Amino acid sequence: MASSLQPLPSGFGLLPPPGGALFSAGRTRARQEVRVRYHIWTAGCQMNKADSDKLAAGLERLGLEEAARPEEADLVVLNTCSVRQHAEERAISKLGVLKKLKSRRDLKIAVMGCMVGPRTDDLRRRFPYVDVFTRPQEFDPILEAIGIDGEDLGDEFWPRTFAVPSGPTAYVPVVHGCDKFCSYCIVPYRRGRQRSRLIAEVKEEVEHLAARGVREVTLLGQTVEAYGHDLPAGQAGLPDRPDLGDLLRALHEIDGLYRLRFLTSYPRDMTERILRAVAELPKVCQHFSLPVQSGDDGVLERMRRGYTVAEYRQKLDLLRRLMPEAAVSTDVIVGFCGETEPEFRRTYDLLAELRFDKVHVAAYSPRPGTIAWRRMPDDVPREVKMERLRAVEKLQARIADEINSALQGRIVEVLIEEAKGGKLGGPACRTGGPARPPPKADPPPAELAGRTRSGKLVHFHTAHPEPVEGAHLGDLVHVVIESTSPWSLQGRLASAAKPRNAVDHPVPDRSASVAAL
Ligand code: SF4
Repeated sequence: MASSLQPLPSGFGLLPPPGGALFSAGRTRARQEVRVRYHIWTAGCQMNKADSDKLAAGLERLGLEEAARPEEADLVVLNTCSVRQHAEERAISKLGVLKKLKSRRDLKIAVMGCMVGPRTDDLRRRFPYVDVFTRPQEFDPILEAIGIDGEDLGDEFWPRTFAVPSGPTAYVPVVHGCDKFCSYCIVPYRRGRQRSRLIAEVKEEVEHLAARGVREVTLLGQTVEAYGHDLPAGQAGLPDRPDLGDLLRALHEIDGLYRLRFLTSYPRDMTERILRAVAELPKVCQHFSLPVQSGDDGVLERMRRGYTVAEYRQKLDLLRRLMPEAAVSTDVIVGFCGETEPEFRRTYDLLAELRFDKVHVAAYSPRPGTIAWRRMPDDVPREVKMERLRAVEKLQARIADEINSALQGRIVEVLIEEAKGGKLGGPACRTGGPARPPPKADPPPAELAGRTRSGKLVHFHTAHPEPVEGAHLGDLVHVVIESTSPWSLQGRLASAAKPRNAVDHPVPDRSASVAAL
């Protein structure tokens, strides 16, 4: 993680922190010359990753230094996830390793994130050597563990601490928490009720990122189209309460930003007004993550999803009518409490009919504290869940293969996110910056990777007759697709692409030879 670009507040930086509690006497490093080193381990979703990046930026702003490994750190933060059993088990196994480390030397251990909540007392009993348990985005208790009083930093410290980008793409949370209380989900209990950030605050963060070379920003929310539902009217000169469309319009103006995305969508919150904003704004990628979870109304009701299959279908129809080339992915849970074979079959048939670009499928596992855990037996045998999971995976591999193979021979727009050596390698492998002159020798083709506007991963090479100027990390290029698989596309660089903006690309041209994908 890179260091923050905001200035350090006075009074922080070198160790020891106030109270000098972190290090014991006799430590070999001179106390005044040593910085606290932190290490953050992150599990789970992009929201957790964004929280970790923000915490890292805050710690660095306070003068701490990142350690690559927990063994080299004075403070280790585990940012945990409890959406899946496996994620919890990984965090618990990390705690075992940290316990041994702590028995040998001074170490502060903090557990943050979705594992912390109503069961914290239980966690404290099981892991007494952990110094701090703190909920998602509650960073101050971690500072207190290293002797810094969060109140001394002022109210503006965390809102104006922005993660420093590590590449040309970045995630920006815009709505925290969730008000939906789906029966299987732990998120509302751990992340709390919905809280939207103000348009001005989000805009300041995205401008900060764009000025540092970020070209694509993904706005995050558990139900991102609920953005603004909890905000007052009158922001950014708007007469009404803002919605996601207003936020997208405000961010669309930012210079240097090429693409905007958002996730995760929730069918009931997805309005025609928001969809029209996406269709009209050239920088906004027509790429949706719209979880359906089940194709059976009875299961949806038990899940408390708040919509029927017919209502989901109507939203998807509207979306595809307004944006015929939109890419849509979905999430499905198989083996939810009481799911019968015919109920599963309806999910399977719906997926076959709606043909999503991607399906994230999970076998249900009860999460302690949820409504389903309290009230519904987890009665679908594990082998049956796995059988259904494999059936969905097999179906989706075929559909994704068909969708992707239709792109063979087409030209797609790609934002370069990774580059390895070759013609465009070396110093070109950086974020943004001016075009470089072509290299003199004829080195081997560079291997590059990036994503299309539809979020498809593209691996490509530079076997172009002439090196393409300006093809650096964070640049937009056109790539000819030469082969495909269900999971990615492969091709060769064709030419540099012009960033879209409101002036010279009023509406993406669906008939052009360059695919809008
Ligand atoms: Fe969880 Fe449902 Fe909220 Fe998604 S919408 S975060 S599944 S409660």
